[in-house]
Amino acid sequence: MNAASSSPAEQPVRLRAHHLLCMLTFIGEGYSPTFVAEYRRIVARLGAGAEIEIVAGPDDICAPICHAAGEHCHNESVQDRDRRAAASVTALLGIEIAPGARFRLDAARLSRLRHAFATGTIRAACADCEWAPLCDGIAASGFEGVLLACRA
Ligand code: SF4
Repeated sequence: MNAASSSPAEQPVRLRAHHLLCMLTFIGEGYSPTFVAEYRRIVARLGAGAEIEIVAGPDDICAPICHAAGEHCHNESVQDRDRRAAASVTALLGIEIAPGARFRLDAARLSRLRHAFATGTIRAACADCEWAPLCDGIAASGFEGVLLACRA
């Protein structure tokens, strides 16, 4: 783990492991205008170098809608998606992706993640995801229109 600390004023962005993949293809679409607005805010923070803290279960992206999504966010299938994403991103970045891990994105890490996403080497977590055709198309386009970009 590449540990880094946060100032008291800057809380880490709490992410479950498979959202390390989903954030790569976020183009500003989602379940509701409120969800999208908050997701945009999170992506802006990540791009500005905010620290990420890996969590188990609902995170800053999905927790606000988990009540409406029923048990989905807690389902074993979604937890398995997290495990598969954690394993592939750990292997790619050399950062142990596990609850409590903290690290920051930078342009080099983001580029490695997107390249690996496009070539399929970190897509095991995407199996059976209903959004996979959308994410496949975004990757195939060279990530046209995605919102996450790192300043450094
Ligand atoms: S296919 Fe599903 S799990 Fe994979 S990045 Fe897209 S939304 Fe996330």
